[in-house]
Amino acid sequence: MSRYWFLSITLWALLFSVPAWIEAQQAEKQIAIDWVDSNAQILNQVNKKIWTWAETGLQEFKSSRELMNLLRANGFEIQEGVAGMPTAFVASFGSGHPAIGILAEYDALPGLSQQVAPEPRKRAGVTAGHGCGHSIFGTGSAAAAIAVKQLLESGALKGTIRLYGTPAEETGIGKTYMLRDGIFKNDDVVFGWHAGDVTTARYSYSKAVVSVKFHFSGLPAHASSSPHEGRSALDAVELMNHGVNYMREHVKEDARLHYVITEGGGQPNVVPPEAEVWYYIRADKHADVELYFEWVKEIARAAALMSRTELTSVTVDSDMHEVLPNRVLSEIIHNNLELVGAPRFSEEEKAFARQTQAPLGRELEKSLSERIEPLPDVPGQSRGSTDTGDISWFLPVGRLRVASYTFGAPGHSWQIVACTGGSIGEKAMMVAAKTLAASAIELYTSSDLLQQAQADFKKIREPLNFVTLIPEGQQAPKAIR
Ligand SMILES: [Zn+2]
Repeated sequence: MSRYWFLSITLWALLFSVPAWIEAQQAEKQIAIDWVDSNAQILNQVNKKIWTWAETGLQEFKSSRELMNLLRANGFEIQEGVAGMPTAFVASFGSGHPAIGILAEYDALPGLSQQVAPEPRKRAGVTAGHGCGHSIFGTGSAAAAIAVKQLLESGALKGTIRLYGTPAEETGIGKTYMLRDGIFKNDDVVFGWHAGDVTTARYSYSKAVVSVKFHFSGLPAHASSSPHEGRSALDAVELMNHGVNYMREHVKEDARLHYVITEGGGQPNVVPPEAEVWYYIRADKHADVELYFEWVKEIARAAALMSRTELTSVTVDSDMHEVLPNRVLSEIIHNNLELVGAPRFSEEEKAFARQTQAPLGRELEKSLSERIEPLPDVPGQSRGSTDTGDISWFLPVGRLRVASYTFGAPGHSWQIVACTGGSIGEKAMMVAAKTLAASAIELYTSSDLLQQAQADFKKIREPLNFVTLIPEGQQAPKAIR
């Protein structure tokens, strides 16, 4: 053979043969995917239990136990009750680096009781529901961690996998306090996912939000015979809310100010001596939340002055930062979504979802999404918030959404509860578990990618200053309200 032919054959072989490490990585991904598929029945049962219990934030005793049992049975070491929260846990397997964390959530929402039915129908004796799809979130993430563990156990991969049981996401408590206690400090990257109405790598910012309760104290008195002796704490709450509603006009468009009155007196003939209002103050940037928080506090002090009551406490339960998106991890997730494929739904499932669209009052082009959204060139901006944001200020975080419910359904709605308690949500959970596992496998097998993800993280994080509004040394709350 001439020298020319030898060289060109070698070149062709190099160009068109798959390098051995890529072949090995593909085989590893397949092992993880197969594990998820062959355990579908168990995973669906776990989801169904968590969905049925529908435990709200910090009350997720059975749900966290269920996930811990699944992980323990699969060889994970469990640390229970971390960061002062009985329902928070860390499950780990392996040792050394790369160390990859996967987030699990499992809290339900109050007032969203719903059956697996295509019209609003409450469940008897249950008031809460998984209106944010956290039952599939927790179960799918645990499945991904166990799938990765198969490869660490066989020696195909080296490093550590951790599954984080993060309670009370709806009030931004779990991860915020876990982060403060240094729970994530040994990880190289963290992954999370969420139920959605589309399937996409989440290359986007979220909003920052502080959750704060203002308590006012006045003087009780008979509201008819001696009102002049009383000072109404409820008046202070109402004046404060008026003040904030005037403030609303003069904040940036991305700001969100919302409140509920958590204590407003007992009955009308007693001047309310105690009252409390609970605020979420949000903005795209945490720096703006810091400014608005100061303004709202001034309004509260002014309301106390006007009503001659006292502002007796300002309690910051939680303070979440905006998610800092990571380009490298988003690309890895997007490519693995392409590998796994978006969920495919049956005609029956589509008909179910179509029926749940009826109350939305508008024609929608599809009942369920079966495609993968393109990865945007620049990060988007979501209008929600998550305590995953805080983690993303300390290490690279990759996230995805998988179509788990009715296309066009609003967040925190009965439609989400209806879909995630059955086969629609279960299919999404399987896609999420496989995509998370396959994405993690890429990072175990490529230190380059890990370094790129970390470089991307540094670039976005370096100009920012992390300020938390949670007082130093404050313990996680014992209850939401
Ligand atoms: Zn959620």
